[in-house]
Amino acid sequence: MTVVVLALDALDAGLVEHFDLDAVRLTSSNDLETFAHTQDVPYTPEVWATVATGLPPEDHGVTGGGTSEWDNPVLEALSRISGRFDESTRGTLGKVVRSKTGERERIARTDAESMFDAEGAVVHNWPGVADGRPLQRAWDLMNAVAEGMDRSEFERELFGQCAQQFAWATEMLNHPVAVAGVHVHALDAAGHAYADDEAALRHAYERVGAFVTKIVDALEDGDDLLLLSDHGMHAAFYPPDEGENPATHSFRAYASSTADTCPATVYDVREWVETRASTTRVEGAGREEAVDVPEDHLRELGYLE
Ligand SMILES: [Zn+2]
Repeated sequence: MTVVVLALDALDAGLVEHFDLDAVRLTSSNDLETFAHTQDVPYTPEVWATVATGLPPEDHGVTGGGTSEWDNPVLEALSRISGRFDESTRGTLGKVVRSKTGERERIARTDAESMFDAEGAVVHNWPGVADGRPLQRAWDLMNAVAEGMDRSEFERELFGQCAQQFAWATEMLNHPVAVAGVHVHALDAAGHAYADDEAALRHAYERVGAFVTKIVDALEDGDDLLLLSDHGMHAAFYPPDEGENPATHSFRAYASSTADTCPATVYDVREWVETRASTTRVEGAGREEAVDVPEDHLRELGYLE
């Protein structure tokens, strides 16, 4: 039995109500207390690394200039400076460096233990913890949008990535997995692009809601789903945001689960997940027989050395 953790970046508690999005209101739901550390508002890699480790940014180390790493020391120094800027400035700087040198940053990974290090836990992509490339692709996409990529291409890319991430999580329900975590950036990118376009952002929320419903339908007795965000997004059409700058991160993070409780803060998520995972039995675990690979054929094909 599996606990699926969906990291729905920028899913905004206020907009869930505004759009009346039942698909993400599971058995229990609440606002999730989040934090700002190096910026005035919550910053994606800092918060997700905290969610996975249960540690504050000063302890997990994915913070400020430490949110990214470059192979080249000069780029590493520039990255430390760009870490103090917001995501769009940072994206622009990153792009200049990429075009001049052909090198690019990696989202840094914490050395601290996370909930995905436990036996039976798996993770697909998760900023600060596992494979930051999908987040980089999402940031690249946002840069392309800023430069005039048309809507149909943007949405095709965005929801194409989203579909892969949800499909992976759903497939994990067929395997002896205790915890399966995946980060989905779609609503952050859509929130930045459509903060002044209510119909387009509602559509994006409904698309993500439809993916959530598919996973909920695939759960079996004893499985649980926890979905949560790191922050929300201010929107021009959302009445409580009057006077706020649209397309900036809000503190309205959200959590919902198929269980009777939800974590109250981003620091509580790890313990919540581990408590539930420890009460579920991993069926099929311990099946350790090796796969019998026909090595000769693979060597002929050049797949093996
Ligand atoms: Zn975020």
